[in-house]
Amino acid sequence: MKLDSLSSQLDGIKAQGLYRRRRVVEKIHGANAFSDGRPVVNFCSNDYLGLADHPKVMAAFLHGAEIYGVGSGASHLVTGHGPAHHALEEELAEFTRRERALLFSTGYMANVGVIAALAGQGDWIFEDRLNHASLLDGAMLSGAKLKRYAHADAEALRVLMERSPPKERMVITDGVFSMDGDLAPLPELAVVARQAHACLMVDDAHGLGVVGPTGRGVIEHLGLSATDVPVLVGTLGKAFGTFGAFVAGSHDLIEYLIQRCRPYTYTTALPPAVVEATRASLRLVVEETWRREKLRSLVVRFRSGVGQLGLSLMASHTPIQPILLGGNELALQASQSLLESGFLVAAIRPPTVPEGTARLRVTLSAAHEEQDVDRLLEALARLDVD
Ligand SMILES: *Cc1c(COP(=O)(O)O)cnc(C)c1O
Repeated sequence: MKLDSLSSQLDGIKAQGLYRRRRVVEKIHGANAFSDGRPVVNFCSNDYLGLADHPKVMAAFLHGAEIYGVGSGASHLVTGHGPAHHALEEELAEFTRRERALLFSTGYMANVGVIAALAGQGDWIFEDRLNHASLLDGAMLSGAKLKRYAHADAEALRVLMERSPPKERMVITDGVFSMDGDLAPLPELAVVARQAHACLMVDDAHGLGVVGPTGRGVIEHLGLSATDVPVLVGTLGKAFGTFGAFVAGSHDLIEYLIQRCRPYTYTTALPPAVVEATRASLRLVVEETWRREKLRSLVVRFRSGVGQLGLSLMASHTPIQPILLGGNELALQASQSLLESGFLVAAIRPPTVPEGTARLRVTLSAAHEEQDVDRLLEALARLDVD
């Protein structure tokens, strides 16, 4: 692309209603923030349990910086792998009930890295149509052949696999779908994958900490084993309230990734203070079960309220509660008018979601109070979306 064509490209993006503009969001406390200087209640953060500013998480971060300084100074394979990283990996392995876990700097890198390490040219990868972009990018980087199956449809996957050559195969899915909030049909996918001798990988970025009786994610909620899902990716910037990601699985999987995963090898390890903060938040995820309970009751309250307004909700029982509007401009206008009422709710447009399915992506958090939800419902009732 020529640099002198950028301005006409930008005009084209604007004409489609797809222009993206960043707001400056300044967090105050919990879900309260300033958006470009305007006080708002944030209804689009992924801090589902409200742990990002928990006093114990903040204290662990400060203490970590006092002991270790700020930067880790190098990649894990050089000198960046410290005692905090090592301890968190052991704690995450225990939390996910797997042999080992490996820390990554971001979920994007974990997904791209794991897929490109496990699949290559000549292999086949099958992904849900609505998988997170990082899972698609990983497949592209791997050089494997990528096939996408109809959303959450294990039968469609089975048919697609039957028609493909008996090569090395991976089946990859979000656990909780990030823009729809529904769950992958993991028991069915696991059966199809097993019959086809394929490896099933689940990215549970939005499930861990939130879904399942003890917050161990969709795998716990749906009663699957580590044999059913040998490769599990989790992120730490959402329900854990900090930053980073990890892959959990067998001893051999983790050792292989240490040898062969380029986004693991060629990047600086997470700052140890961030890791200490995550160790504190992991303890809170396990201990403060009231956060999940509060979140569940807010989800029920929100869904019954929106149902009464006649707006179009999706089949989600997670804290991701999108309201489907369709048009890009409509979604933008709705988001803007909610902002004027003091609520920050992101309009999600293509290519993040399929064409014609622009939506308001409302997310709930244990940091919200019932009256926050009730006031949001009142503002939604005032929206003009017909
Ligand atoms: C947010 C997200 C990621 C990326 O995680 P980061 O740590 O933010 O890079 C990966 N997968 C899914 C499903 C996500 O929602």
